[in-house]
Amino acid sequence: MSRIVYVNGEYLPEEEAKISVFDRGFIFADGIYEVSAVLGGKLVDCEAHLARLERSCGEINLPLPWSRTELVAIHEEMIKRNALDEGGVYLQVTRGAADRDFAFPKDIKPTLVLFTQARNYVNAPTVKTGIKVVTFPDLRWERRDIKSVGLLGQVLAKQYAAEQGANDAWLVEDGVVTEGASATAWIVKGKTLISRPLSNKVLPGITRKAVLAFLAETDFTFEERTFTLEEALDAEEAFITSATAFVMPVTSLDGHTIHNGAPGPTTLRLREIYVDFARKGGVLG
Ligand code: PLP
Repeated sequence: MSRIVYVNGEYLPEEEAKISVFDRGFIFADGIYEVSAVLGGKLVDCEAHLARLERSCGEINLPLPWSRTELVAIHEEMIKRNALDEGGVYLQVTRGAADRDFAFPKDIKPTLVLFTQARNYVNAPTVKTGIKVVTFPDLRWERRDIKSVGLLGQVLAKQYAAEQGANDAWLVEDGVVTEGASATAWIVKGKTLISRPLSNKVLPGITRKAVLAFLAETDFTFEERTFTLEEALDAEEAFITSATAFVMPVTSLDGHTIHNGAPGPTTLRLREIYVDFARKGGVLG
């Protein structure tokens, strides 16, 4: 059965879902995206993703003519029409289609596309083994806080990882780990979680925010600072967070085993709390 894809107000079989070749998302990567997880047919923390969507669009002066309520309703309709139990909903909004010219065209209507992907997130096989990560130079632009569809830096990093037989890449700049190619990077020392502060250098992760909100339920503390690759290689545990990986152990970094090579107790505890939160719809109290 083909998926149902949303394009500019219509729910269409994927073979019929089309946008213009003049769409500025295609020509200039002039667009923003979001991915919300779905568990048990329910959206996880979708409001927070839509808040970040609004912020990203605001930063590039892309008017978003849909209210948050309307966008949630479209997400829910997509889950229903695709009978999605577990997976993700991808949303992309672009400035729209117009003859190719760099500056914003006048009277242009944004393009809105959503599609679903059925995936096993909770019981992903990598939870038991942890993932292998390799590092790659951070080639991206200076506004990584905007969730732009311009992802060539990440595509090259993830292709390099695939060629190395790794599951994912961490991006490194001036000896410091910026973040994962599509996730927030963390290391653990004792009871302390370490991840870098938010800035224009990283995407403000929605899962990062949720994990930090759970710390009150644990005896872990948070040290918000950058960390070097050397420190990560020497860490007791390492993990990534993202809407689709949840909290995922990293057990190998550039071919070096992290600690004893098994997912660590702190990572697994945080994952357990996150999965529980996600099953309840992922709304922070
Ligand atoms: N950093 C980057 C570069 C990402 O692409 C993502 C997710 O796609 C994240 C961090 C994690 O963000 P979130 O937890 O909101 O999925």
